[in-house]
Amino acid sequence: TYVVTDACIRCKYMDCVEVCPVDCFYEGENMLVINPSECIDCGVCEPECPAEAILPDTEDGLEKWLELNTVYSAEWPNI
Ligand code: SF4
Repeated sequence: TYVVTDACIRCKYMDCVEVCPVDCFYEGENMLVINPSECIDCGVCEPECPAEAILPDTEDGLEKWLELNTVYSAEWPNI
């Protein structure tokens, strides 16, 4: 899965949301998140993010962000 990280905070450009084929972005107050169980790992959103906030969870040190994306996508509205 891909995860949204802190570079998204107060950016919310939304280009990533437009290209996602499965609509798995969710919107909170300060940032967006991806629902890991809906993301099909296509990678289309990654280059669309001007803040480079979207990363594959295979990168090191993203455990905390994966957990936050999981928790918040369950609580926040789908966009
Ligand atoms: Fe959506 Fe693909 Fe990005 Fe996953 S990797 S959030 S499916 S655009």
